[in-house]
Amino acid sequence: MGLLEKFADHTVFSLELFPPKTDKGMEKLCGKGGVLDRLYELHPDYISCTYGAGGTNVGKNLEVLKKIKADGRTTPVTHLTCIGNKRGNIEEQLQSFLDNGIEDLLALRGDLPVGKDSTEGDFHYATELVKFIKERFGNRFTIGVAGSPEGHIACRSIEADISFLKRKQDNGADFITTQMCFDMEQFKRWIHAIREAGITLPVNVGVMPILDQAATVNMALSRNGCAIPRALSEIISRHWIFPNPFAPTEDEAIIKDKKEAFLEEGIAYTIRQIDEYHALGVNGIHLYALNKSEAVTRIAKEAGLIDFV
Ligand code: FAD
Repeated sequence: MGLLEKFADHTVFSLELFPPKTDKGMEKLCGKGGVLDRLYELHPDYISCTYGAGGTNVGKNLEVLKKIKADGRTTPVTHLTCIGNKRGNIEEQLQSFLDNGIEDLLALRGDLPVGKDSTEGDFHYATELVKFIKERFGNRFTIGVAGSPEGHIACRSIEADISFLKRKQDNGADFITTQMCFDMEQFKRWIHAIREAGITLPVNVGVMPILDQAATVNMALSRNGCAIPRALSEIISRHWIFPNPFAPTEDEAIIKDKKEAFLEEGIAYTIRQIDEYHALGVNGIHLYALNKSEAVTRIAKEAGLIDFV
């Protein structure tokens, strides 16, 4: 079944990995009995692999995707960005994905490198990348695009952001995967607004598992400006590692206890979010798996994601 048939058939469950930078990391992810093997047990509809800014991780991205393809246990989906990429280079990479049996991708602008205000490539927005893929490759790729329930951090307004999302649909995108969003009220406003705007594409909701205090604060605030709702702030406060979660100075045993307690409450928060997404009738749940299998397996099982397959 192709991805679009899956979206039409059931609530999709997908996972996202990043390409490790080292051979050791690759072995942990792709080696026998490694993270990938354990994640296959969750029967995800697809597993996507991110693409490094400036193409620095392109090699490992393709290696991970080739491994998923060769294993034949789920559909590999690549990410592709505009950062530092010229038309010819993009076309070559797309052809190489096709040559390796990878026909599904997420077309993104990419995060601008720190200190830069341009992609330094031929395309400046994902709208252009989607258009180019359609022009050069027709229907050979199923194309996903990013949606930002809180508005992209650099958008001039949420309305403008939604209009650009609509343009991605008009240019040929097939589905949307969303940026993480901890704020359910905002998500509800956004999903209503995009449907009002005529965006009919399936929405696969990106869910960032809450597993670690510093990582949660970092992921929410370092790039995306995600709101942290009161209920999540309370969890962070209750288990705050004094004085600084990024450089803890408390007794190691106390820190360990706090981290474990945070993990439990964070997993419970994540599962409640997934319940709410299901109740809203979203088309899929996309777990940012962060190359971790244990906590992700727990969330998938306890949230009933495996039963949806
Ligand atoms: P765009 O849709 O191009 O939007 C970027 C900004 O420009 C927005 O503010 C938008 O409002 C505005 N805009 C859009 N189109 C136009 C237009 N035509 N004219 C004027 N303004 C416009 N990053 C990576 O580097 N690698 C990855 O693998 C990766 N994977 C991701 C996976 C998911 C599920 C998500 C949600 C994000 C991912 N990202 C990744 C991050 C993403 O690249 C960043 O959020 C990036 O800053 C924006 O990408 P985009 O495709 O949403 O950009």
